[in-house]
Amino acid sequence: MDLNEFWQTALTDIELQISRPNFITWLKNSQLVDKKDGMALVSLPNNFAKNWVQNKYHKIILGTLRNLDDATKNVEYIVQTSGGVEVLKTKSNKKAVMSDTSGQQAFPEMKIDPETNLNPRYTINSFVVGKSNELAYAAATSIIKSVGNKYNPLFIYGGVGVGKTHLMQSIGNEIKSVYQNRLRIKYISSEKFTNEVIWGIKNKRMETVKDKYRLIDVLIVDDIQFIGGKERTEEEFFHTFNALYEDNKQIILSSDKPPRFIPTLHERLKSRFEGGMVVDIGYPDYELKVAVLRNKLSDKGVILKDDIINTIATRVSKNLRIMDGILNRVLFYQHAKNQEITHKIAEQIIDEVIQEPSRNISPNEVVKAVAEAFDVSSTDLVSRSRKKELVLARQVAMYLLRDLLAMSYPFIGERLGKRDHTTAMYAHQKISNDINRNTSLMQKIISIKDTVSK
Ligand code: ADP
Ligand code: MG
Repeated sequence: MDLNEFWQTALTDIELQISRPNFITWLKNSQLVDKKDGMALVSLPNNFAKNWVQNKYHKIILGTLRNLDDATKNVEYIVQTSGGVEVLKTKSNKKAVMSDTSGQQAFPEMKIDPETNLNPRYTINSFVVGKSNELAYAAATSIIKSVGNKYNPLFIYGGVGVGKTHLMQSIGNEIKSVYQNRLRIKYISSEKFTNEVIWGIKNKRMETVKDKYRLIDVLIVDDIQFIGGKERTEEEFFHTFNALYEDNKQIILSSDKPPRFIPTLHERLKSRFEGGMVVDIGYPDYELKVAVLRNKLSDKGVILKDDIINTIATRVSKNLRIMDGILNRVLFYQHAKNQEITHKIAEQIIDEVIQEPSRNISPNEVVKAVAEAFDVSSTDLVSRSRKKELVLARQVAMYLLRDLLAMSYPFIGERLGKRDHTTAMYAHQKISNDINRNTSLMQKIISIKDTVSK
């Protein structure tokens, strides 16, 4: 798999996580120019795009690259106009471990369908069935045969990386191909749904959002647990759900836990969800893990020794996404070195991936870095003082505590001068807006981020 293929794969995932206009504006012309020792180097066509992407999408990019290859530790960005610097390519003129065609077949053009949000890479054929997922699989196949009539809703729950998204997307793709586009299918994460509801409210266009969803024949909502506690979103979803349900439209949902156990979800939604078919996907056993690995290898047309396959399957405990990451990394290594990977190296790769603790940044470090950048004292920064020079610095600290450490607003307010959570919320909002206009502020924040992430 060369850099370009790897990056194209990453982009299809990134595209799912940000809005389409943003994706086209900022990332369409990006490239992965190098990737080694855990560092990925991404090029952008100009300085502004570089700063913007670094500032806005770094987390998403890093997260996505890590998902694909757990070896990724950091991403850096450079400006490179097209036709610029010669890109590092993996040479494969020596003895080929991957077959010649494998480079191209590894990742065929995988475009997420903008209509349905379905990624063609998830197919029912590539979903390996084992003890932990056979019930969910059986429910999925019977839905494909009888859309809207059999199990409605289908509610799939299970831990991280057990295959929920893969299975749901496969149902969508299969229905799409069987029904030859006669059914309107939509896959959406509950976070994206929430954002649409918020957009609808803000722009007084809730009717547009409603209409859009009520015309759908197959609605697939991933990670529905995230709508719990979001009053307005829950309410809208409830109405959409009822409208579709009454029309015999198929609804498929996933969550990390069964409906009963989703905290803060209203009773009425819980009982709606329980009204259909609730199935779980358990953690994969050894046989399933081996089968998934073999499947991936044959898809890519790559060979890996049995011994290595068994080792990976044994060492990965639950999460198939992590297993995927290990496999990609092993293959990447094998390809780059152009020789078969040894057992010892495979173990090392697994060790790194499994043990890799993400460095924990403490709130104190953030406060200190902000204080230094703004040339004020940390003590003043966390005090109640309203001195003018402290105000902006404090807002930036609030912004970063949220952005980097995902801390709660009440905590951030308390920490920075015993302030109310609304102050922290306001600060976050304000700085998020300001950096879009104020390049020097953006630079400053980027450099603070650099300092604390080292
Ligand atoms: P979840 O949504 O439950 O967190 P995903 O569907 O994202 O998990 O699965 C994680 C990774 O494991 C994906 O790359 C997916 O393709 C792969 N995977 C999971 N289950 C299977 C399976 N049964 N067969 C083949 N691949 C699978
Ligand atoms: Mg998922």
